[in-house]
Amino acid sequence: MNTEFDEEEKLSSLVNMGYTVDEASLAIDRCGVDSSLVELTDFICAAQMANVADAQLSELPLEVQPKLKHSYSEYAKHKKRKLSDYEMWTKNNQNGFEKRLLHDDDETIRLPNPMIGFGVPTEPCSTIHRTLPEAAVGPPFFYYENVALAPKGVWTTISRFLYDVEPEFVDSKYFCAAARKRGYVHNLPIQDRFPLLPFPPQTIHEALPLTRKWWPSWDRRTKLNCLQTCIGSAKLTERIRKALEDYDCEPPLSVQKYVLDKCRQWNLVWVGRNKVAPLEADEVEMLLGFPRNHTRGGGISRTDRYKSLGNSFQIDTVAYHLSVLKDMFPGGINLLSLFSGIGGAEVALHRLGIPLKNVVSVEISEANRNILRCWWEETNQRGNLIDLADVQQLNGDRLEQLMSSIGGFDLVVGGSPCNNLAGSNRLHRDGLEGKESALFFDYFRILDLVKCIMTKAQ
Ligand code: SAH
Repeated sequence: MNTEFDEEEKLSSLVNMGYTVDEASLAIDRCGVDSSLVELTDFICAAQMANVADAQLSELPLEVQPKLKHSYSEYAKHKKRKLSDYEMWTKNNQNGFEKRLLHDDDETIRLPNPMIGFGVPTEPCSTIHRTLPEAAVGPPFFYYENVALAPKGVWTTISRFLYDVEPEFVDSKYFCAAARKRGYVHNLPIQDRFPLLPFPPQTIHEALPLTRKWWPSWDRRTKLNCLQTCIGSAKLTERIRKALEDYDCEPPLSVQKYVLDKCRQWNLVWVGRNKVAPLEADEVEMLLGFPRNHTRGGGISRTDRYKSLGNSFQIDTVAYHLSVLKDMFPGGINLLSLFSGIGGAEVALHRLGIPLKNVVSVEISEANRNILRCWWEETNQRGNLIDLADVQQLNGDRLEQLMSSIGGFDLVVGGSPCNNLAGSNRLHRDGLEGKESALFFDYFRILDLVKCIMTKAQ
C-alpha cells in the first residue's frame, strides 16, 4: 500500500512538473519506486535528449530506408514487366528521400495556442488560405492523424514524408467536453467546413448531468482531459473517499490539491458524496461521438473497450475536417481506411451523410474488426466492406487488384499507433523508429503506392 502510494505521489509530482503520465511512469518503472524526484527527472531528460537525437533525420535512413526500399523491390520483383514503373518510382523518390531524411535544419514544429488548427466551428478562420505543395495534391485525398505531443522532430519528419504538408494541430476540447490534442496532415480543402449537428455537449455537466449534484465547488473543471486507454483503479477512488470523509464541508487546500490532481490525471467524475469514479465505457463512447454500445458486447472485454476507445478519433473533430467532401462526392466515396480501429473515419463519414461505396479497412485487432463489421451491418450500409488485417502485408499487387475492381480510392485515412510516441524512452528506441510508431512509414508507403497507381491509370 505504501509503495503504491509513494508511486502515485511521484507520478503526480512529475505530471505537475509538466511531464506526461507516460514519461513519468516509464521513469519510475526504469529507475525504481525508491528513486528520488531528481533521479527521475534526470532520466526523463536523458530520454528526451535521446529522442531528439533519435529523431534527427540523419539517423532515420538506417531504420527506414531499407524497409521502404524492400517493399518496393518486392513489388518490382513480382511485377517484372513493371520494372520501369519501379525504376521511375525509385528515381523520383531518390531526391525525395534525401530531402526528407537528410535535412539538417531540424526546426521543430511549434504547437499552436489556442490549438484550433485551420479553424473550429466557433472560430472558423475563414481568412486562412493555404497552397498545397504540388506533390500533395490529390487524387486521392489523404488524412493522417497522430498525437500532437510527440517527441521533437517527429512531426517534422511526418510532414516531410507526407509531401511537405503542414500539420493541423487541433484540440477536441473545441468540439466536445474532453480534450484530445492531435495533429492532422491532410490535403483536404479547408474552406466551407461544417460541423456535425446536433453540436455535442460542451461541458462535463452538460455531458454527464448526474454528476452535477455531487460536484464540489472547489473542483472547477469544466472539460475532461484526454480520454485514455486505461482508467483509474478502485483503490484510488477508495483512497480519495477516505481522504475526504473526515471533513463535513470543504477539505483543506492540501487535500483538495491531492484529490484534484488525481481527478485530472485519471479523468475521475463525482458520482456521490465524496465519491469519484472513472468514466464508464459508454460515457467515453458518447464523448468521442460514437453511437451508444458501439464497442459493447460481441466478445470484447471491458479493458479492450477502453483501449480501443482511448486510441480512436473524436468523431465531431474528424467529421468537421472531412465535411468538405460532402459536396464533392454526392454519389459516395471509396475509402481506404488504414489502422481503422473501431471505425472513427467510417462513422464520421456516415454521420456526415456521405455514402460509403467501397471501404477497404485494414486493422490488426480482430475485436476491432468485429466492431466495425457489426456497425456496418447495424447501419444497413449499401456498399462493400473489405477487411484486411495487417498494413505490412498490403503490397502493390494487392492494392492494384483492389483498386482496379473498385475504381481507385477517393480518400486514404489513417492514424497509426502512437505507443512509442506518447512516452519517451531511449531503451525502447522511441520516436518514429519504435516498433509500432514505425507503422507510419507503412501509411506513407501505401498512400504513395495508391498515388502512383492512380496517376498511371489516368
Ligand atoms: N483511428 C482509429 C484508431 C487508430 S489506433 C479509430 O478511430 O478507432 C491504431 C490502430 O492500429 C489500432 O487499432 C491497432 O490495432 C492498429 N494496428 C496496429 N498495428 C497494425 C498493423 N500492423 N496493421 C493494421 N493495423 C494495425
